[in-house]
Amino acid sequence: MRLEIEKGVQSAIRQIKALKQKPKLIAVQVPEGLKTRALEIAEQIEKASGAEAVIFSDPCFGACDLADARARQLGADLLVHFGHTKMLISELPVIYAPLSYEFDENELANKIIAKLNELSYKKIALCATAQYAEKLNGIKKILGKKGIRAEIGVGGKRVALAGQVLGCNYSAVNSAIKDADAIVFVGDGLFHPLGISFSISKPVLIANPLAERVEELRQQRSMFLRKRYAAVALAKDAKIFGIIASTKRGQLNMRRALEIKGEIEKEGKKAYLIAGDLVKMEYLLGMQLDALVCTACPRIALDDSILFKIPIITPNELEVVFGKRSLENYKFEELQ
Ligand code: SF4
Repeated sequence: MRLEIEKGVQSAIRQIKALKQKPKLIAVQVPEGLKTRALEIAEQIEKASGAEAVIFSDPCFGACDLADARARQLGADLLVHFGHTKMLISELPVIYAPLSYEFDENELANKIIAKLNELSYKKIALCATAQYAEKLNGIKKILGKKGIRAEIGVGGKRVALAGQVLGCNYSAVNSAIKDADAIVFVGDGLFHPLGISFSISKPVLIANPLAERVEELRQQRSMFLRKRYAAVALAKDAKIFGIIASTKRGQLNMRRALEIKGEIEKEGKKAYLIAGDLVKMEYLLGMQLDALVCTACPRIALDDSILFKIPIITPNELEVVFGKRSLENYKFEELQ
């Protein structure tokens, strides 16, 4: 299985060439995993367009972090954003060049069929991250021939592709689960399937084309909950909270941050609003905080908590801290 980088670059170049207004300075935003190819990509874009290209060095983890305003500051008249799909309205023209994985959909579909038959599931909701989403229709057809009905949902404004899930949004799954026995997630990693399982109470199966395996999400769920229980338990002793609000446009939720400040103060504790672009422990070291509530990307609290010296929790977990929600009733708070 391989990531189709060249296909993404060629798609970007085709879109640039099709523009009526020829750009003079093109800003290029690539995800961290593509930095090793960034110079080569900029060179290809320059050669094909006749424009100059400028590469952003800041890390980019999603389309929530569109660098349109920064591109404009540089004087760029076009932004090419690699690796993610459209989420935000932009200040200047943007070309999205999503990157997809090439793999044998027949092989994976047959593994999904075998697992669904073993569990006697006949109707499913099918979803994937952007890198795998273009294979969903092919997989659906193969499943259909074996009597399995697969629905591919359409998400809200944060997602651009049918069946696409983000770490912060599962609206495409929600729109396809009526009557479904289970959800089949096509992709790698645990974050997205865990997020689905805490958003929607149906069994979740992971069809991983990298590992060439289909498995039901079970133990991972309780292991994840144990870790969150530990973070919540530590946050219960906190007297001074920092509420993190991101300045990244697609992660910004100041209204929620302000609500949370009020909730903490009602409990007789101190709360401070802290805004930043990148949320990192080293940027907070000088502040005397006991715990953090993160209203930005949910992955920061849920995936990267190990990098923080103090407990970092999500807004929903704060409800557990204050006894308004039980951990058994764990709910994943999505960004809209
Ligand atoms: S907020 Fe987080 S999960 Fe959502 S798109 Fe951005 S980086 Fe991905």
